[in-house]
Order: sequence, then structure tokens, then C-alpha cells
Amino acid sequence: MFDIIGRAVGGLYQVVRGLTTVGKHTFRPPITKEYPDLMPDLPGAFRGRLALTVNPETGEHLCISCRQCERVCPDKCIEITAQKSTDTNKLELIDFKIDHGLCMFCGLCTEVCPTLCIINTNDFEMADYNRGNLIYDLKRLTLTQEESGYYFDKKNMPLPKPKPAKAAPAAAAAAAKPAAATAVAEKPVASEKPAAAKPEVAEKPAAKPVEAKSAEVKTEEAKPEVKPETKPEETK
Ligand code: SF4
Ligand code: SF4
Repeated sequence: MFDIIGRAVGGLYQVVRGLTTVGKHTFRPPITKEYPDLMPDLPGAFRGRLALTVNPETGEHLCISCRQCERVCPDKCIEITAQKSTDTNKLELIDFKIDHGLCMFCGLCTEVCPTLCIINTNDFEMADYNRGNLIYDLKRLTLTQEESGYYFDKKNMPLPKPKPAKAAPAAAAAAAKPAAATAVAEKPVASEKPAAAKPEVAEKPAAKPVEAKSAEVKTEEAKPEVKPETKPEETK
């Protein structure tokens, strides 16, 4: 008898317990999201599609073509094309490809990047019917200034410093070269003055001999005229 009463009380307790749980959830606000009508608010550490950031303030690309992400990738799905610039003697990024069909979103590439260039975005809607469309090139990977600023803020990443204006001294040097060239070009103009003066100086000595010769001729012509007239008069 006591056993039956004990089982009935235990059953009622479990029913009340279940109804209490149902009652709690009945009046609780829903925690589910009506995706895709409402996008979920994902945390900054979410590892979605990979992308390349730019400086949110200046818009300059942050990748320095160091290839650390390419080397660390276990799936070998990153392919970087770069070449050394003859002007700056530094690597210039030509193309950047990521095969998201191979990527396992481990985030290792984002960990090693020294310039915070490659990041995981919150974009997870990458389904496609063609695997080739999952290979993103530099243009598709690069974020805009606004998007980069959003992710720098969301991931609490320090804003990158603008690249030092090393091109300015080169440009100044390049600008100085033509200036020096013009200065060199102007020197011959200044040296024209002595060149022009030389003939004037040379003309003066040329005139003197002419005058001297004419004087000598005059004296030579006068002497014979005097001598024949005086000598006969003295003999008389
Ligand atoms: S997330 Fe991992 S697998 Fe994907 S590109 Fe980066 S290192 Fe490679
Ligand atoms: S690690 Fe960063 S800076 Fe280096 S090549 Fe990859 S994305 Fe560019």
C-alpha cells in the first residue's frame, strides 16, 4: 500500500516538474533567429570566409607579400603571386588566390599574418554550384575601407599605421635631378658671355698693327722726299 502511494507522489512530482519547465519556456523571449530573414549577430572570433583588409583610413593594401600565410596553410589553398619592384626594391603583390573549397577555416593563416591583413570574416554564405567559383582572387578577397574598418573594430584589432612615405624622398630626388639638370643646362648660357667677349678683345690687337704699318709707311715715304732737295743746295 505504502509503495503505491509513494509511486503516485513521485509521479505527480515529475509531472509538476515538467509543467514548471514548460511554463518557464512559455513566457521566455525566443532565442532562435529567423535566418535568413534575420542575420545572426556572430562574434568577432567567428571563422568565416577569408578576406584581405586595407587600411581603413588610407585605403592602402596591407599585404606585404611575405608568404607566411601561404607557408603555414596545412591545406595549401593559398597561392600568392608577387614580384620585386625595380623602383622600391620591395615585393609587390600581383595576385592572391584562396581556394575556399579546400580551406578548413582553421585560422592559422590569420594568426601568422604580421600586418593583420588576412582575416576571417563573418560571411558564411558561400554555397555555390561550381567549385571553381570558390577560388577567390585578389579582387574578390580585398575588402573595402568601410568593411575593413568594421572588422578592425569588431575584432578589436589595432588600426594599422600608414606606410612611411618613402616614395616622397625618391620623388624629391627625382624632382631634384631635373632641377640639377636645368642648373647644368644653364651654366653653358653663363659661359657664353666670356666666349662672346673674347673676339672683342682679339679685335683690338688686330687693329694696332694696321695703324703701325701705316705710320711706318708714312715715315718711309717722307724721308726720300727731303734728302734730294737739301743736298744740292748745300753743294752750291
Ligand atoms: S584557414 Fe587554415 S586551411 Fe584555410 S587558408 Fe587559412 S591556413 Fe589554410
Ligand atoms: S601573411 Fe599577411 S602580409 Fe604575409 S603574404 Fe599573407 S596576407 Fe600578406
